[in-house]
Amino acid sequence: MRLLLVEDSDTLRDKLLAWLSARGWQVDEAADGAAALAYLDAYEYHMVLLDLGLPRVDGLTVLARLRERGGTARVLVLSARDQVADRVAALDAGGDDYLVKPFSFDELASRLQALMRRSLAAAPPRVSIGPLDLDPATRRVQVDGAPLALSPKEYLLLEALLAARGRVMTRGALFEALYDSRSEASDKVIEVLVSTLRAKLARAGVDDLIETRRGFGYLVP
Ligand code: CA
Repeated sequence: MRLLLVEDSDTLRDKLLAWLSARGWQVDEAADGAAALAYLDAYEYHMVLLDLGLPRVDGLTVLARLRERGGTARVLVLSARDQVADRVAALDAGGDDYLVKPFSFDELASRLQALMRRSLAAAPPRVSIGPLDLDPATRRVQVDGAPLALSPKEYLLLEALLAARGRVMTRGALFEALYDSRSEASDKVIEVLVSTLRAKLARAGVDDLIETRRGFGYLVP
């Protein structure tokens, strides 16, 4: 499970990093809001631990941008701001839970567990087609039980096509599913992604999963 840790205090960040890694989280760390946004653009996370008082870009702004871009990561806000108004602002901006500093690691563990339970319950169901298996809860794809390494965008493309199984998805609809509205990329990027995804699937022994409907789009029949 991949987690982004956003905290500008080096001492607290180091402590959290050690604690989270020991619990099996795959952790990226950001010491300011701008670095956090760059990570959130580049990767898909299951969880974000987010401080509010951050250099460069404030935590609430990071949160609002993550949600604007359609990011589905669970966000646990860690903040020394203990007023009800702060809590409300963080939850309004798309935070899932709020923990006031200083906190105990036991409390953190139980909040993380509760959020992951909600996250797993909300994930769409697993999809299996022949040897291919895609699990939205863990964002893992396997072929005949062996993991298939996909980039985040390739994964999202496959997930979108499988969720729409039997229906043609236009290039524009796929583009909307994968990119935020301010993206500079053109929807031609979908053609490129379809071809890299097809190549990876073919190397793993899955041929002809994605069909092209010339002039319309793509489908998994
Ligand atoms: Ca801070």
